[in-house]
Amino acid sequence: MRRIKIFDTTLRDGEQSPGVTLTPEEKLAIAHQLARLGVDVIEAGFPIASPGDFHAVRRIAQEVRGPTIAALARAAKPDIERAAEAVAPAENKRIHTFIATSPVHMEKKLRLSPDEVVARARWAVGYAKGFVDDVEFSAEDAGRSDPDFLVRIFGEAIRAGATVINIPDTVGYQTPWQFAELVRYVIENTPGIENVDVSVHCHDDLGLAVANSLAAVRAGATQVECTVNGIGERAGNASLEEVVMALYTRRDVFGAETGIRTRELYRASQLVARLTGMVVPPNKAVVGANAFSHESGIHQDGVLKARETYEIMDAELVGREAAVLVLGKHSGRHAFKKALEELGYTFNDEEVTRLFTRFKEVADRKKQVTAEDLVALVEDQRTRAPEHFKLQDLQVHSGTALTPVATVRVATPDGEVTEAATGDGPVDAVYQAIARAVGLRPRLEAYRIEATTGGTEAVGEVTVRLRNGRAVVTGRGVAPDVVEASARAYLDALNKLVAGVGAKASVEAP
Ligand SMILES: [Zn+2]
Repeated sequence: MRRIKIFDTTLRDGEQSPGVTLTPEEKLAIAHQLARLGVDVIEAGFPIASPGDFHAVRRIAQEVRGPTIAALARAAKPDIERAAEAVAPAENKRIHTFIATSPVHMEKKLRLSPDEVVARARWAVGYAKGFVDDVEFSAEDAGRSDPDFLVRIFGEAIRAGATVINIPDTVGYQTPWQFAELVRYVIENTPGIENVDVSVHCHDDLGLAVANSLAAVRAGATQVECTVNGIGERAGNASLEEVVMALYTRRDVFGAETGIRTRELYRASQLVARLTGMVVPPNKAVVGANAFSHESGIHQDGVLKARETYEIMDAELVGREAAVLVLGKHSGRHAFKKALEELGYTFNDEEVTRLFTRFKEVADRKKQVTAEDLVALVEDQRTRAPEHFKLQDLQVHSGTALTPVATVRVATPDGEVTEAATGDGPVDAVYQAIARAVGLRPRLEAYRIEATTGGTEAVGEVTVRLRNGRAVVTGRGVAPDVVEASARAYLDALNKLVAGVGAKASVEAP
C-alpha cells in the first residue's frame, strides 16, 4: 500500500470561503480536531495577510502536536519571514511558498517573464530553506500552465531544496483524465522528483475536485490538499472526508492508504460547519444528514437483511454512531468531567468549572443532555469572544394576536442597560432591543437555527452572520430556549465585532 499524505487547508483556503471568518480560538479548536483526525499537515494560515492570521498560526504552532504545521507565503521576503516566525514554535514546521506559472497569471498579474518567475521561485525556496527544512513549492494555476514550464520550475525548486512540489488546479478547470496526464508528465520528467512529495490541490468549480485529486493519486501523487466539508474559495476545495473515504473504500483500485482516523471525520465535519456557519447539505457524501439514511422500502428491507445490500461503508467507520452518553440535572462534576474526556476533550479545572456552570444552567431546564448537546455547549463556550456585552436578562411577549415586544438587560463596560423594542417577530424584537442597548446596528446577513438533536426538547443552536463595513463576523448561541439562543448568538457576534476579529484581509492565494 502506498501511503498518501493528507494536507488539510481548512484554516487557510477554507477560511477564504466567502462570508467565513474564524477567530484565533475557533482556528485552534479546529486545529486540535484535525490533529485528532490524524492529518499529516495543517496549513494553519497565511501569516502576512493580517496580524490575526499571524497570531492564529503562531498559537497553533505552539499548542497543536502531531501534524506538521504549515504557513503560506508568496515568493517574497516579508511573506517568508512572517511565515517562518509564525511556525517557529512547531515541532514539525513547513513553509509553503508559491508563484503563478500560467501564461495569463505571469503576464497579467505578475508582469514577469517566465525566466524571472523561475528565478524568483528558486530564490524563494532557498530563502525559506534558511528557516525550515521542510519547504513546499506551489505553481499557482498549474492546471493552465505549460507542462514543460512546470517541469522546469519544479526541477529548479527541488534543486533549491523543496521537499514537496504542489500542482494546484487553482481555478478548478481540469478534468480527471487531463489532470492525471499532467501529474504523470511532471513525475516522469522532473529531475529529482523521486526524492520529494508530489502534491495536488484541486478546486471544485466544475464539481471535479475530488475526482481530479483521486486521478492524481492514481497517477502518482503522494499528497492531497483538501478541506473539511470541501469549503474554500468559490466552489471550494476537494473534500477531505470524500477523498479519504474513497481511498479507503476503494483501496482495491487505489492501492493506497492514509493516516486518517476515520471515526473522527463526522465530528470534524460538524465542528467546521458549526464554527464557519457553512451548512453541510443533507445529501453531501459521507457527512451529510442523509448519507446513511434509506428511504425506499425496498432498500430498507435490504439493509435490514444485510447491510451491504445498499451500504458500501459503515456509518460507524466515519464516526456517525450516535453517542449513547446522556447526562441530566443530577449529574455531578465528576460525571461531567468524565463525559468530556470520553468526547476527547481535556480541560484544566478552571475550564471544567466554567463549563460545568453552563451545563447546569442547561440541565436544569432540559431533562437529558446528550453528547451532541454537550459538544455544542463546549464548542460554544470555548470559542466565544471576550464578553464585552453580556446578556443579563431577557423577556419576550409574543403570540398570534400580539405585536412581539422584547425587553433586554445587557451588561456593558459602562454599566447595565435595559432597553425594550417591538419587532416583526420575537427574535426581531430581541435584536432591535439589543441593538439599542449596545448602540451598534450592524447588518444581519444570515440567521440559522438548528436543533442539536431531533425532537422539540432539543437544545437550539443559532448562528448569525453580521456585517459592519468590511468586517464580517459569525456568532453562535446555544440554549434550550430558541429566543435566548438567538440573543446569545447576536451578542457573541457583536462581541466579535467589538474585538475587531472580523476584518478580512484580501491577499490572493492559490
Ligand atoms: Zn486553493
